[in-house]
Amino acid sequence: MRMRNDDGRPARREARPVSVCPAAKRCGGCQYIEMPYPEQLRKKQSEMQSLFGSFCKVHPMVGMDDPFYYRNKVHAVFGYHKGQIISGIYEENTHHIVPIDRCMIEDQKSDEIIVTIRGLLKSFKIRTYDEDTGYGLLRHVLVRRAFATGEIMVVLVTRSPVFPSKNHFVAALRERHPEITTIIQNMNDRDTSMVLGDREHVLYGKGYIEDILCGCRFRISAKSFYQVNPVQAERLYTKALELAGLTGRETVLDAYCGIGTIGIIAANRARQVYGVELNPDAVGDAICNAKLNGIRNIRFYQNDATRFMTQMAQSGDTVDVVLMDPPRSGSTEEFIHAIKAVRAKKVVYISCGPDTLARDLKVFRREGYRAEGVWLYDMFPATGHTECATLIERTGA
Ligand code: SAH
Repeated sequence: MRMRNDDGRPARREARPVSVCPAAKRCGGCQYIEMPYPEQLRKKQSEMQSLFGSFCKVHPMVGMDDPFYYRNKVHAVFGYHKGQIISGIYEENTHHIVPIDRCMIEDQKSDEIIVTIRGLLKSFKIRTYDEDTGYGLLRHVLVRRAFATGEIMVVLVTRSPVFPSKNHFVAALRERHPEITTIIQNMNDRDTSMVLGDREHVLYGKGYIEDILCGCRFRISAKSFYQVNPVQAERLYTKALELAGLTGRETVLDAYCGIGTIGIIAANRARQVYGVELNPDAVGDAICNAKLNGIRNIRFYQNDATRFMTQMAQSGDTVDVVLMDPPRSGSTEEFIHAIKAVRAKKVVYISCGPDTLARDLKVFRREGYRAEGVWLYDMFPATGHTECATLIERTGA
């Protein structure tokens, strides 16, 4: 419909479309939400071209067919505002809660579950936690949905282990959402910005969910990392494996391996795979995941990736291909130095932090490795973030 002004003249088209999300300004999570999707892709492509153009070819970004509701993990912080229970996210750099019921990039079912939980709190007399006074029980709710299997995990983060009427609460929640497959209480009494605490208690179900990625099945615990956009993750990992060019004879290291996804997908095409990961829960999942997929030629180590690699180098071990997927902060000079020492010929570096990848590529160059190309995947539509896979090869003999 064409818009008209009060005086009947056609309205001038606004340069920016009216926001599709009422919370966009205060939430700040989606910097590009008002930009048409093709324009988002062009903008990210040109940013990546400036960042990596001097290293290697930057391939066209692979976007999503449907760039909405893609996140399989939804987090809400709970609190009070003017006597009402609210849930949402913290306004950027503050501890004010921006109330959110629906988000354009989050799984819709997970958002519904959070609204249901909020609606149940009053009748169960569950108070939300107040940061200033330290009173109240419920701090956060985390919902994770495995898109391929439909399994849903709900994590209730409470300040203390004492959760009166928890059995009734769980029953009421399951009655409203029979699709929930597991419910976990996580205890976090610390004053940090970390959502999850160390201790947890399974209130219903197995305590984890399983998803399918690249034909393998993965168990995911509450505290383990799992890609938030599985549609794009599948495309990215398929490309990463193609770049690795495995023949079945290689020794492969999956560094920063999380629950073992990349290494397990690679294992059928390698002689031996080693995975290293710092988070003990993720390592536990990884070991189960190898069994779940009948993979025998993989071993996981709980360690700092740099320390593990340095030890391998000191023991004179060798590796043919390194698959690495560090957190946004990137890797370390020592890790990259050790890649050379274990005589790796090829590295596939997956990154969700292009700036730290560019920094690390300089170190690779110093160590005698060359980037052969960067492949871009839009893992986080509507936001300014970009994910990529880079093929890095040893130069010379
Ligand atoms: N490759 C996995 C996980 C990637 S996310 C996947 O695709 O699912 C990055 C992982 O690095 C997280 O699991 C995090 O716990 C782990 N990590 C962070 N710092 C680390 C370090 N210093 N050494 C080893 N692992 C680390």
